[in-house]
Formats: sequence, C-alpha cells, structure tokens
Amino acid sequence: MGGCGVSEEEIVLSLNDPPACAQCGGLTLLKAEFPHTWKNATEQDVTGVRAVALCPECDRGEPSADALLALFTVDGQLSEQNLTVFTDLMAAWLDVVRHKSVDMERLDAEHKAWLRGELDNDEADGLDGDAVR
Ligand SMILES: [Zn+2]
Repeated sequence: MGGCGVSEEEIVLSLNDPPACAQCGGLTLLKAEFPHTWKNATEQDVTGVRAVALCPECDRGEPSADALLALFTVDGQLSEQNLTVFTDLMAAWLDVVRHKSVDMERLDAEHKAWLRGELDNDEADGLDGDAVR
C-alpha cells in the first residue's frame, strides 16, 4: 500500500529575497508562507496565508529558531545533504510560530480597527485649494 503522504501543508519558502525584519528592520534569512486558519470573533473559521521571516536577531533564543540559524551559519546554504534536516527544523520552528500567532492575530485585528478609524478621520484630506489655478 503505497500512498503519497506528501500532503503535509503548502509551505512556501523564499530564500532568495527575504524581507526586512518587521521588528528590527534587519536582514532576515528566509521567508515562509503557510496557510493559516483561525477563529474570528464570531467563531467562524477564517483562512489566510501567514508569512513569517526568520530574523537572526529577533528569533534568537527560540530553540527551534536557534537550530535553524545554526544550520545557516554552519552550512551557509541549503544543499541536498542538509535539506532533510532543514525541513525538520523548519517544521519545528513553524509549529512554534503558529502557536505564537494567536496573540499576533488579535494585535492585527486591533491594528486594522485602528486603521479604519484613522481612515474615517482622513476623509476630508486631499482637497487642497492650492491646485486650482
Ligand atoms: Zn529582527
């Protein structure tokens, strides 16, 4: 009975052009995007894609992140030899990140609500009389 149990999750890794760290602005090592489901205030499942970046500064101290950082430090880049190790470490780290994400989601919701209020106040802007000449 074969069967391809490869249906893990669709994790998209970007190693070539990782974004700047959202927390410290420094260079990150990689970006990972994965499907993410959470419950909103009305208990409905919301599905989206989360993107996380591995920052050598901010993520240090997390054992799974440390292991990943060590891999990059030692090997410099991914090869067929360390790909399996990397995948395992990556899965462990994402698991940690995912559990952390509950609070992040709440922050995000608050941030959006705040932005909405901000936009309402800004409605009158943009009508500058100076342009009429
Ligand atoms: Zn950082």
